[in-house]
Formats: sequence, structure tokens, C-alpha cells
Amino acid sequence: MEKTLFQKIADKEIPSDMVYEDEMCVAFRDISPSAPVHILLVPRKPLRDITCATAEDAALLSHLMLKVGDIARAVGIAESGFRTVLNTGEDGGQTVPHLHIHIIGGRSMQWPPG
Ligand code: AMP
Repeated sequence: MEKTLFQKIADKEIPSDMVYEDEMCVAFRDISPSAPVHILLVPRKPLRDITCATAEDAALLSHLMLKVGDIARAVGIAESGFRTVLNTGEDGGQTVPHLHIHIIGGRSMQWPPG
């Protein structure tokens, strides 16, 4: 099966600004950031989206959730706060069919701005 864009990034076949990697996941800066810090946290396993995860993926999903905090601390947005976004499918605005968590921060996400 053809690799997804994010598998190619994880395998370093496509360059990225990687901020973290381990045996289960990679994290790299979004090419089109919507805030000063915009990182994508991606499992190496090419699950299309969160609806494709099964009980077999429990350890992987737990690992990703724990990495959110670690990465936020590493890039300096844990104290100021940040937003995590997980888009699913067409109506969810997902454009890359490989599960990923957006970690977005470095500016206020408050709406209306206060
Ligand atoms: P989503 O719309 O939730 O599927 O998010 C996909 C994200 O991937 C978008 O924010 C894109 O800007 C980002 N993206 C697409 N291609 C690349 C790339 N080559 N390197 C880094 N981020 C990318």
C-alpha cells in the first residue's frame, strides 16, 4: 500500500521540522502554521483517523496523549496553554488521511478575544 504523506515524513523521505520522534510516533512543525507554535503529533502506524483505532491501539493512543504534554513542555507552551485539535473526515476538515493531533499555541485562542 502507498505510504501516506505523514509516513513519508516519519520515514524522512520528505523533509520536515521534526521536534520529537520515538518508536511509536513523530512530531513536526505544521508547514502552514495557524499560530506561532503549531505541531503535528503523528503515530507511525497509519491509522486513517480516530474512528479506525481499536482496543489494540489503546497503548498507542495513551502514548500520544502523554506525549502532548511532553512536547508542549519542550517547545515552551505548557505554562501559557495551548489547543489540541483532532480533525476527523471531510466534515471535520481533515485533509491528510493519517491520524494526527494538532498542538497549537504561542498566542491566545480565546474567542471572542478578551
Ligand atoms: P488536517 O487538516 O487536520 O488533516 O491537518 C493536516 C495538516 O497537515 C495541515 O495543517 C497542513 O498544513 C499540514 N501539512 C500538510 N503537508 C505538510 C507537510 N509536508 N509538512 C508539515 N505539515 C504539513
